[in-house]
Amino acid sequence: MAFFVNTPIEHISRIDRRIVPALKRLGIKTVRDLLFHFPSRYDDFSNEKDIAGVFPGETVTVRGVIEKISVHRTFRKRMALTEAVVRDETGKIKVVWFNQPFLAKNLKEGFLVRLSGKVAKGPGGVYLQNPSYERVGERAIHPVRSQPRRDVGADDALVYPVRDEISNGVGRTSNGIHTGGLVAVYPETQGITSRWLRYLVSNFIKLRQNLADPIPLDILKRNNLPWLSEALFLIHFPKTKEEARAAERRFVFEDLLMIQLRALQERSRLKEKRAPEIPLDIPLVKKFVTSLPFALTDAQRRSLWEIANDLVKPSPMNRLLEGDVGSGKTVVAAAAALLTVKAGYRAVFMAPTEILARQHFATLGKLLKPFSMSLGFRTGTEKRATDSDVVVGTHALIQKGISFENLGLVVVDEQHRFGVDQRAHLVKTVGTVKSDSNGSNKRSDRTALTSEAIPHFLSMSATPIPRTLALSIYGDLDLSILDEMPKSRKPVATEIVEPAKRESTYQFIREEVKKGRQVFVICPRIETPSTNNESVTNIRMSELQKRIWEVKAVKEEYQKLSTNIFPDLKVAMLHGKMPAKSHTAFRRVRRNAQALGGKSKEEVMKDFRDGKIDILVSTSVVEVGVDIPNASVMMIEGAERFGLAQLHQFRGRVGRGAEQSYCFLFPTEDGAASRRLRAVRDAKSGFELAEKDLEIRGPGNMFGVEQSGFSQHALKGIMDAELVRAVRREAIELLRADPGLRNNSTLAQRIKEMESEVHWE
Ligand code: ADP
Ligand code: MG
Repeated sequence: MAFFVNTPIEHISRIDRRIVPALKRLGIKTVRDLLFHFPSRYDDFSNEKDIAGVFPGETVTVRGVIEKISVHRTFRKRMALTEAVVRDETGKIKVVWFNQPFLAKNLKEGFLVRLSGKVAKGPGGVYLQNPSYERVGERAIHPVRSQPRRDVGADDALVYPVRDEISNGVGRTSNGIHTGGLVAVYPETQGITSRWLRYLVSNFIKLRQNLADPIPLDILKRNNLPWLSEALFLIHFPKTKEEARAAERRFVFEDLLMIQLRALQERSRLKEKRAPEIPLDIPLVKKFVTSLPFALTDAQRRSLWEIANDLVKPSPMNRLLEGDVGSGKTVVAAAAALLTVKAGYRAVFMAPTEILARQHFATLGKLLKPFSMSLGFRTGTEKRATDSDVVVGTHALIQKGISFENLGLVVVDEQHRFGVDQRAHLVKTVGTVKSDSNGSNKRSDRTALTSEAIPHFLSMSATPIPRTLALSIYGDLDLSILDEMPKSRKPVATEIVEPAKRESTYQFIREEVKKGRQVFVICPRIETPSTNNESVTNIRMSELQKRIWEVKAVKEEYQKLSTNIFPDLKVAMLHGKMPAKSHTAFRRVRRNAQALGGKSKEEVMKDFRDGKIDILVSTSVVEVGVDIPNASVMMIEGAERFGLAQLHQFRGRVGRGAEQSYCFLFPTEDGAASRRLRAVRDAKSGFELAEKDLEIRGPGNMFGVEQSGFSQHALKGIMDAELVRAVRREAIELLRADPGLRNNSTLAQRIKEMESEVHWE
């Protein structure tokens, strides 16, 4: 059977059926996906030595003949132990493999092999420990790699029959893919080893030549980047670190180019659109500001000013309001909504979760109360007064078929991307408003704008992407930053609690409750088990499985706290299996549920808000945005399992009132108080934490950007200011010469694909 890049993996008869789901978990559905499943790192096996010359502690590659090979079971651990002796012209060495019983079937006495691994020293002398292995022939070790670069396409020799590997577990050609030089190590999943992936990739790598390169040739040349086919080969089978780096640089460049092109296209499309002009009504803003129970921070004032100045313009605002948790973004957005409504238009507020939507609904109700405006609500389960001046809701707001008359402003909380099209979909009609002679605006005076009009857009985010970074990613997206906390806010005292101090911490929490405070308890995230074994890594549970486990964890913690630790306090729980809201239509169901103590999330949140609950045990649903000023203690179980961004978000849930607040981080295991937890304890702001995270984990994993939807490659390149500039120059030039990308169809196609990969929620 002939294979193509688009051949689904399940059509490759020699790929074991049982492995297909695991491959899919890795995102590998087609041969093409396989070629684009890149190594996460490389083992450096370039230290090739004679057996006589090896010494303990070093990682080496040796080549020799198997003199002896046999399998035993260890007595105590009942583990398979394969032992061999390998000899070359200079001497012999013992080789030991754990847990690979099939090995002795594939490697037989008399075989010429190459082995790469660590030299260890035991009672019986030095030996090679769990080396990567392959059978080699009499030919040169790297025939393909020794060919000149331009010929890397002609490496059919590297492809050896699938059947051979499946039945033997070893390739039979002399080409090295598992030993010697740099050897690719892939992100793995249960049942799929790097070894197997390397083998699969080597089988299909020649098909890369059928892939069109989305990057125009002149851009490749100018920036000294390998063309796609070459880069694909080099990223899987590099000879040197330089080759691997060159390949990686190309893919980084490509992903950044896509991001920039998309941003630039979006921007020019936005420029063609019109938006309602919303007058800057200064007396109204003043009235709003004085109606607040607090004074705005300077940062809030500045941001509000920037937003209001965008709204005045006839072109659509595209602004990101960025501010640490608790910096007071909602008030700023509310003021923008107020201006919009008073100008005769409507505003929509979109939150990432139902709980947050309800909270925004309540907050806006309070903030906008003095201004006689109507407020509607829409989620997947509830819909009321959706023709109001301001409509708050979840993603359900932008579902197909829903549109709003005279929509002037869309505010999206904690969600980065919201394209022109999505905005356009929301709009039924947008009117312009003429001022009458008194300067007041009336909706009846409206004349319809062209259908090209779209609402202004304000996105809010607590992700502390540094300004320069955000600008390089988003290009011309305007940015307002709340880099100042309300003065009333006291830093949250954070402590990493050692097991010995658990009891006294509980006692402390009890005293806080006695003082009238409330407590959040976050249960550990379910960790995906992992081992260092090459064959079993990162079992990725399905989201559903995870949720079930999380519910279980919440129930257990609830049981423990309510019966053993705090039987005298009011403890409640909140988890994903609870209904969002109680439906009166299902009164009977509801009564039954209540007889069992069941409540909806909404009811529990309300009880907590009303102070009827002292301690709320929950999953990470309280992560973003929930605002309960009286809650002053945040207790996080299994703290080391959460990302820094999440921990910081959790902590941001407390410290919102006048009282001193506390955050207790309970690591699961003794000594798990890692650098990361200490970073959370010591960091004073999200920005500071972002920098620490960058230090600890590198840009690819940087704080918060995980959720940004950018590829790992793009994230790696984003911090490279020079590269970003180069990419930007090329993107601008490319679009200038070919605005619709009609002469660059592969590129246009890639951008489209990337767009469809952006998921909502
Ligand atoms: P976030 O930026 O995390 O969304 P919120 O908008 O939820 O923050 O605001 C957090 C809390 O701070 C709210 O209770 C809000 O009323 C309050 N707040 C906002 N601005 C100020 C301010 N300038 N002074 C005091 N409290 C403020
Ligand atoms: Mg918020």
